Amino acid sequence: MKIGVYAGSFDPITKGHFDVIKKSLKITDKLIVAVMNNANKKCWFSLEERKELIKMLTNEFGEKIEVKSFDGLLIDFMKEHNAEIIIRGLRAVSDYEYELGYAFVNHDLSDGEVDTIFIPAAREYMYLSSSAVREAATVGARLDIFVDTKIADIVKNKAKNIKG
Ligand code: ADP
Repeated sequence: MKIGVYAGSFDPITKGHFDVIKKSLKITDKLIVAVMNNANKKCWFSLEERKELIKMLTNEFGEKIEVKSFDGLLIDFMKEHNAEIIIRGLRAVSDYEYELGYAFVNHDLSDGEVDTIFIPAAREYMYLSSSAVREAATVGARLDIFVDTKIADIVKNKAKNIKG
């Protein structure tokens, strides 16, 4: 059983993330979406909210997907879940430099057990990030091109609450 882990902040999940999830399912038997609980990063959505949004959009994949939280070392999380593939999405060239370093570190820390597989962003989502979604929501732009319509209103409402 090939278990992959797709880790990130997902604040909130975008169409770009969803595209990576769908493609990852072609190469894994099970995919764990690991939502980072990073105290240093101030998120719009709480950990539970971020997980809930991902679950809403991925329940069509049934048991092939699990959504979990994680903090600490990704390699420890991988071991705990018997996973050997880290999935990362690659957008612009700038992602590459940063991601490659992590891929080497994780490979070494796991004594060669864990490898990272990069999924290229779809052309239309190449420049899409959660922060762009938050910015768009703040200024009241339409969100349907960035996030699934099922969650667009939730993101809009969050922007209103944050603005106060
Ligand atoms: P963001 O940078 O949007 O806050 P995350 O920390 O949630 O993203 O990213 C998790 C993973 O998803 C990273 O590997 C990141 O490169 C990837 N990713 C983010 N947005 C996209 C996108 N639009 N297309 C492909 N991969 C993406």
